[in-house]
Amino acid sequence: MKGYAMLKIGESGWIEKDRPECGPLDAICKPLAVAICTSDVHTLWEGAIGERHNMILGHECCAEVVEVGSLVKDFKPGDRVLVPAITPDWNSLEAQAGYSMHSGGMLAGWKFSNFKDGVFSEFFHVNDADGNLALLPSNIDPVDACMLSDMVPTGFHGVELADVQFGDTVLVIGIGPVGLMSVAGANMRGASRIIAVGTRPVCVEAARGYGAVDFISYKDGSIEDQVLAMTGGKGVDKVIVAGGGCETFESAVKALKPGGKIGNVNYLGSGTYVNIPRAEWGVGMGHKQINGGLMPGGRLRMEKLGALVSAGKLDVHPLVSHVFDGWEHLEEALFLMRDKPKDLIKPVVKI
Ligand code: NDP
Ligand code: ZN
Repeated sequence: MKGYAMLKIGESGWIEKDRPECGPLDAICKPLAVAICTSDVHTLWEGAIGERHNMILGHECCAEVVEVGSLVKDFKPGDRVLVPAITPDWNSLEAQAGYSMHSGGMLAGWKFSNFKDGVFSEFFHVNDADGNLALLPSNIDPVDACMLSDMVPTGFHGVELADVQFGDTVLVIGIGPVGLMSVAGANMRGASRIIAVGTRPVCVEAARGYGAVDFISYKDGSIEDQVLAMTGGKGVDKVIVAGGGCETFESAVKALKPGGKIGNVNYLGSGTYVNIPRAEWGVGMGHKQINGGLMPGGRLRMEKLGALVSAGKLDVHPLVSHVFDGWEHLEEALFLMRDKPKDLIKPVVKI
């Protein structure tokens, strides 16, 4: 089978591989549509998770099941499915402790295009099919369904990590597709005011549609100064970090009220340390919590978030800015994600 792979850091291309084998609990699927993620960019060009050779990229898609193992109960060949980017081993001790995303080791629930071949391939392997796949609701288009693999669950996980409550003022740093879903999630959770940080006009417009009311450009001075000016010097109740770099945490801590919480879902692709400003962290006693996490993955989350979209309570379509037809456009879509032109939010390739 053909797959689009990271050959080594900074180099990618199509390769031939054997079709993966299906174990008793597994499924083999073929993509109906795939989406490119900023994480693919971090992995391939920044080498953020280290060297990988001939590893097929991609972790966002919706798919058709072509084969299931003898112990799979709920899925059969021909089923159209939502596929989460994170596919934990649900019988692991980490999953039992509530950290499915770290099943088998830190971040090891993230398997596609990390520890095994990803979904930019004619066929791909899903471990624990009953625990990880979800049926694609019939009224969701496969292109939109790709947003459920990672953008919706990751953006919403930022909201969970920041513990957004009714009436909170929430700062969302970064309004690419992940941050846009954090805006949507914070709005659904009852935030009274959402301040968004980002500059691409398409993203600003989408963020407004999802519930952001105030906007800040990180290019126009420090984020914290702008936030403090907008909030009468008080700061915000919660911060969700979905963009920026290691230095962004300094701004997040400074922009936060005492007792506030930061939820980070940004993938820190470079740098060595995250610095916490001593004084604004209440000299260690400010009750400013910093939580960072990979989204949990799995079937239940896919079913619930799919139900939100299916019921018309969440419209993911504004995230999809570019749609391509056919594998031959995959590389173009990937390079677009790396170059981030002004009109880009998320590119999807229909197969
Ligand atoms: P994008 O690159 O599309 O968006 C990044 C956003 O951050 C943009 O709004 C950008 O602004 C803004 N930004 C850039 N630089 C700064 C800065 N210095 N300070 C503040 N804001 C800045 O990314 P995605 O939405 O696709 O992904 C966001 C992050 O989430 C990525 O790092 C990605 O790898 C990660 N991720 C994490 C996952 C997880 O499970 N934890 C899963 C998937 C993705 P501008 O409008 O100017 O471009
Ligand atoms: Zn992703």
